[in-house]
Amino acid sequence: MVAGRQVARVGLMGGTFDPIHLAHLVTAEAALEQYQLDKVIFIPTGLPPHKQDHPVTDAEHRFNMVTLAAAGNERFEVSRIEIEREGPSFTVDTLEEMACRLPPGSRLYFITGADAILGIESWREPDRLFRLCRFIAALRPGIPVERAREGLRRLEERYSSRILEVEAPALDISSSDIRRRVTASRSIRYLVPDAVEAYIRKHGLYRSG
Ligand code: NAP
Repeated sequence: MVAGRQVARVGLMGGTFDPIHLAHLVTAEAALEQYQLDKVIFIPTGLPPHKQDHPVTDAEHRFNMVTLAAAGNERFEVSRIEIEREGPSFTVDTLEEMACRLPPGSRLYFITGADAILGIESWREPDRLFRLCRFIAALRPGIPVERAREGLRRLEERYSSRILEVEAPALDISSSDIRRRVTASRSIRYLVPDAVEAYIRKHGLYRSG
């Protein structure tokens, strides 16, 4: 914990990470710095409840890639909490379990894409979610920022909670674009860490789209 501080501030970086890429890492690092977090725990989703109608890469592969990407940053950790839970991964369950595992009184910051947060009213128990954590929205090029901000402000009013934003250097990288590139035998160099690129090649991920 940061010296002189009584309460731990823990970032939880939720995502499908199919695959993890440099914009995710830059966002996590920026959130650490901007909100003086003690650490960021990456939480790859197990079975995403909102993606049951289209295939997501095996959770072990996604977890392994996140682990490779996070290696070398002593303030990044990776959790299997959602991968090991049976059934769909509801964020409310993750936050409750994390609150029990971390030192009492830890403050939780859930970091994820702004467009994911905009859909939060379809998640399980949005009221409770806003009581369990503070959300940090990652805005990135490619999503209309003003429209996203309007949506975030509406959520803030409805749930009487502030939604923070992370100011990361703009990198227009998306997992879907990376998957398409691999399928089309195009380069993903400099979009993902080298070790993640090697993992994708070794296991033949995304080759068939
Ligand atoms: P998604 O719908 O695949 O992604 C929405 C957008 O957010 C995409 O542009 C995505 O870009 C971006 N994004 C996702 N994670 C990000 C991150 N950590 N940092 C920056 N941008 C990110 O979202 P998802 O990955 O499936 O879900 C995001 C989180 O919301 C997960 O933790 C998930 O469990 C949670 N969630 C919970 C529920 C529920 O409890 N019912 C429902 C939906 C989502 P990339 O594709 O490039 O990552």
